[in-house]
Amino acid sequence: MSSLVDLPNELLLLIHSEIDEYDLLTHVCYLQLCSRTRACYARSPPRFWRRLARTHGLGLSRMEEDTELVWRKVAVECAEHVWVCQHPECGEQRLKENREAMDKAILQWEDLDCEETIVHDEVWDGTDPGGDNTPSTLFLHIDFNSAFPCVEDSESKRSKGILKCAFLKATPPVAYRTSDLVEYHPVALRTFATFPPMAMMDTYDPKHYDSDGGLQIRNPDGVTVYDVLIAFSEVMSFNMTSKNLRLLMDYTPPRNFFPKTWTVADVLQATPVVGSWFQLTHWQGFVQEEPTLFSCVFEPKQLPNDVREHINMYKAKTKR
Ligand SMILES: [Zn+2]
Repeated sequence: MSSLVDLPNELLLLIHSEIDEYDLLTHVCYLQLCSRTRACYARSPPRFWRRLARTHGLGLSRMEEDTELVWRKVAVECAEHVWVCQHPECGEQRLKENREAMDKAILQWEDLDCEETIVHDEVWDGTDPGGDNTPSTLFLHIDFNSAFPCVEDSESKRSKGILKCAFLKATPPVAYRTSDLVEYHPVALRTFATFPPMAMMDTYDPKHYDSDGGLQIRNPDGVTVYDVLIAFSEVMSFNMTSKNLRLLMDYTPPRNFFPKTWTVADVLQATPVVGSWFQLTHWQGFVQEEPTLFSCVFEPKQLPNDVREHINMYKAKTKR
């Protein structure tokens, strides 16, 4: 009995031409099927894989080179991940949400010839007034345990460290599992931080919340979730001062973040470092304030009446 791979090249090329040009999963499937279906991609239009990945809201890290080979690797890596990832905030669902967010951004930014701007060529650098940049909803589902990388560590050590303490929250919430570490979810990590993607994104530095200096996040191919986490690795283990804590609490109403049973000493005990704030609250991701300035939004969450219970919960969660 003959199979697809026994078909003549002309037919394989015909099938290839019938695959929707924006169908990432089918293209990767066809690429991987056999050497003859793979050969159909030898004459792909320029930047074919780049466009496929980007229309699905997937970007490069700053360390990766903007070449077709790298973009094809990204497409393959993410498609293969989608086929196995069961996490509700990643996998197929995230790819679908990214795709819809990119489509919406393209429609909204139509006047700026944004298909060209967003997908094929440059990302928006914030120099021209454009439409809104909608932050990815993925940030609502990121949670940290207490193993924050040290402020004094080198950038590469911090970059590795932040990926060891950032988890994708499951719904409903369960204890943190190693398999939920964001580093094992390339689709989540590569998701653009905003739609459309931006080459630069500034956010207040949580350790100096009131100062002008902020965290500057840069990626010429579009800032991703990964880039944001790397930027956060600079501040998460910074000692929390009572002044800074007050500023954080004042910043986003409502202000009753802590149970009435907690004393001031309890509050200080629960927030030794900036990253503790992300454990005490629901991080709701970002809101755009100015063209390139985004602030973090925090909402109160249900906390145990006894502060020790809260602290122990995060200590326990650091054990893997
Ligand atoms: Zn995943």
